Amino acid sequence: MILCDYHIHTPRCGDSEGDYEEYIEEALRKNLSEIGFSGHSPQYFLSKELRKRESAIPEEELELYIHEVETLQAKYRQSITIRIGLEVDFIPGKEDDLLPIIQIHSWDYLLLSVHYLDGWAFDHPKYISRYQEENINEIYRRYYRTLKAGVETGFFDIVAHFDLPKKFGFVPTEPIEEEEEVLQACQKKDMVLEVNTAGFYKPIGEAYPSFPILQKAQSIGLKICLGSDAHKPLSVGQSFDQALNMIRKAGFQSLTAFKKREKIPYPIP
Ligand SMILES: [Zn+2]
Ligand SMILES: [Zn+2]
Repeated sequence: MILCDYHIHTPRCGDSEGDYEEYIEEALRKNLSEIGFSGHSPQYFLSKELRKRESAIPEEELELYIHEVETLQAKYRQSITIRIGLEVDFIPGKEDDLLPIIQIHSWDYLLLSVHYLDGWAFDHPKYISRYQEENINEIYRRYYRTLKAGVETGFFDIVAHFDLPKKFGFVPTEPIEEEEEVLQACQKKDMVLEVNTAGFYKPIGEAYPSFPILQKAQSIGLKICLGSDAHKPLSVGQSFDQALNMIRKAGFQSLTAFKKREKIPYPIP
């Protein structure tokens, strides 16, 4: 049986617990055939003094991260396939600073993430009060416009946690047209939508994306993959059964695996 978890953080991310081998052992316990480490990309969009060790791989450790994962790929070759990627923060206007990070290695895949809106870390519990100060629908519009710009760069393979602003339970009160536009942009760029199970453990209590978004994605022919967004070993592959039920119900027939940015379909187990 093939089953892959492509959103796993690493000890180099600063905000994750445990060492690499504990994540791999958990994947083996959960019978995953393949995992991918997706460390938080260096904070290329900030000046060197403002970059924080606790939220991303420092740029000077990127080569080390690649080396560590490659060592594990060889060590575990007989029991599990290990891929290497990055979860990249997309910041409009900073594309030139991002390119060297993308080009440093032949990644298996790159995750596109939007965690900041004009400098506001909107998915960080510390800055939650801003949801009460701003129009929720406007937050979603801005978020989806930013996400769409990220998709259109063509730099990335997977859209991570598609509807992330819902994390703390703030949801739009009217249909947001921009949401559909991002899905269309993904279709044009052949980008894969991640079904991210971390949302089940957040106040919103559901996967990213929501079931209606997943249904829309299916209706326009988008491909999907699975990610746990594990920041600790036990979270690897968490709630995949629940996600697979949702995926089947939405009408999907297959999932997507990655190898050096090539998309490889596999049947839903
Ligand atoms: Zn993320
Ligand atoms: Zn993540």
